[in-house]
Amino acid sequence: MFKIPETHPRYKSLIKREKLVAGIEAGITSKQGLIAHGRGEAFDYLIGERTLDSAWRATEVAAALLLAAKRPVISVNGNVAALAVNEIIELSELTNAPLEVNIFYRTEERAMKIKELLERQGARNVLGDGADATIPGIAHARARADREGIYRADVVLAPLEDGDRCEALIKMGKKVITIDLNPLSRTSEHATVSIVDDVERAIRNLISVVKEKKRGKDKGRTDLADLVENCNNKENLKDVIAEIASRLKSEGTRLKDF
Ligand code: ATP
Repeated sequence: MFKIPETHPRYKSLIKREKLVAGIEAGITSKQGLIAHGRGEAFDYLIGERTLDSAWRATEVAAALLLAAKRPVISVNGNVAALAVNEIIELSELTNAPLEVNIFYRTEERAMKIKELLERQGARNVLGDGADATIPGIAHARARADREGIYRADVVLAPLEDGDRCEALIKMGKKVITIDLNPLSRTSEHATVSIVDDVERAIRNLISVVKEKKRGKDKGRTDLADLVENCNNKENLKDVIAEIASRLKSEGTRLKDF
């Protein structure tokens, strides 16, 4: 990996790029994944590369959904594997949710490499190499799902999802949690709850909220139901956009004052 000085003002962002390039070299991430990341990065810049209040609220709901689920599953693609492999494994352990490799530009070789990476890093329950079921209504490779995983899950955490599959999973009656830096994407719009944040930050936050909720177990039960009941994804997305707009306005004022 290229050595980036920690003092560089864009250190964290540059490290993410390096991780993705390493992911491509290892056959885990697709080249198109770089372009998708670029779109995400642009939104992260607008957000200010931090977790918005609205994203924290969505994280609370997402944690409640995962803890209340009977058959939660976490979907993993090539970007997630490159950027947040250890975090996704920790979350899988904490929530008893198997990881399922599910990639848009699918080759069996790449799916296997992601599975092997997850297992090498300590994941104990990884599905998706023998995806044997089909999600109705999708024309591309992401329609393939594991019968024991995403296909029969009640709650799916699908970071960096595509809009089509998100919609199709919702049509199957599942609750879908997404992590997507673009509040305007079809994925964000269709999800049960969308966390508009960088995938690494979002999963770290989810881990800490899940841990908190697990510690306060008894009180947690009602809280979980309330949180899920009162969640309005579209309202929360409006809040995200308002937060971004307000930040842009103050940046504009700052420049004007120069
Ligand atoms: P949709 O089909 O939902 O309208 P899209 O076609 O823009 O979305 P894709 O190209 O399938 O989306 O996936 C890329 C999505 O992932 C983008 O919306 C982008 O904002 C988001 N994304 C990319 N990198 C990250 C990241 N590190 N963290 C969170 N989201 C990211």
